[in-house]
Amino acid sequence: MRESSFGLYRPPCRRRLLHWRRLVHGYRRDAGAPPSHAGLVIEITGTAQREAWDRGVLPPVEKVRPGLWSIPVPIPDNPLRYVLVYALELDSGVAIVDAGWNTDDAWESLCGGLAEAGGSISDVRAVLVTHIHPDHYGLAGRVRETSGAWIALHPEDAAMLQGRYVDVDDLLGRMCSLLEDAGVPEVKLPDLNMASMMIRSQVTMAEPDVLLEDGHEVDLPGWDLKCIWTPGHSPGHVCFASESRRLLMSGDHVLPRITPNIGVHTQQFPNPLGDFLESLLKVHDLPVDEVLPAHEYRFAGLGARIDEIITHHADRLAAIERLLAKSPGATAWELALGLSWSRPWEQIPDFMQRAAVGETLAHIVLLENHQRVRREGSMPARFHLASDER
Ligand SMILES: [Zn+2]
Ligand SMILES: [Zn+2]
Repeated sequence: MRESSFGLYRPPCRRRLLHWRRLVHGYRRDAGAPPSHAGLVIEITGTAQREAWDRGVLPPVEKVRPGLWSIPVPIPDNPLRYVLVYALELDSGVAIVDAGWNTDDAWESLCGGLAEAGGSISDVRAVLVTHIHPDHYGLAGRVRETSGAWIALHPEDAAMLQGRYVDVDDLLGRMCSLLEDAGVPEVKLPDLNMASMMIRSQVTMAEPDVLLEDGHEVDLPGWDLKCIWTPGHSPGHVCFASESRRLLMSGDHVLPRITPNIGVHTQQFPNPLGDFLESLLKVHDLPVDEVLPAHEYRFAGLGARIDEIITHHADRLAAIERLLAKSPGATAWELALGLSWSRPWEQIPDFMQRAAVGETLAHIVLLENHQRVRREGSMPARFHLASDER
């Protein structure tokens, strides 16, 4: 094992950058530059989880390694079905990575899972949150109230808490402008703008006690757990890597089956897809045997999976360029409608339509950053291929 690979808290090496540039800038036209892991596929190591997924049931609580447990916590009415909370045994008590939604069902599953692992909710000493989405952070406050645990979060996500869950008027105003600029039809605007407000009830607002800095070792006796900042899905998203156990807890950053939503949002960095691709490179070469994601199932083949995800985004970028060649001056909304999604557009619920618009915008912004696309006007902004004459 190359020890230095765990010192990844530096810009990705030149070779990886070139690799990414060939894939994404070339939009796969460069058939002579296959991904370094071409032909390799991921191996699902969480076979019981995968079996449960196929049967549509909750997977079992599992001992993943000595002193490390995986606890599925259900998410109500959501295609993700559950979040996988990881419980790490300490000399005294337990630390958990992510917490689950703030519902009674989720709470009972978390308590039940900890009991199955031989502990209880009052044993929790620390809650390490990969990012502030409600399926990960929602229950953190309730766990702290019950057990006195400390909550840890990256500063970029901690900075968004007030605006996201307390003083939301400003957020709603800015989101409405963003949607209008994206060309969302007037009749759809109110529904799309309010789409995530009901989710607020699923979160207990809890400021973190500890801020997670990139590259820092988390203070957990008996564990070598490094925090790796991976902005993209959320500005303050983090993964946790253990060198001695050769594993990565990847949160939503790298999942085995789906790609996380990477969208332009009022609480995002300006170029979230660019950040995400860089963050993928940051963990690409980690010497780990197994990835422990926050959804779906455990797997091996981190680099191969990342190559698949990069290829997916390269295909999306190419699809947007093709749409713009056919329909110069299209809005982000029109482009979103022209792309293919997991189901027909009219069957996509409002909050997911909004996420789809944000995701389309994230691809457009990356293309703009690389001078492939230019923007014209505002409210709504219209897009053209940069190669088209004005
Ligand atoms: Zn998330
Ligand atoms: Zn999630």
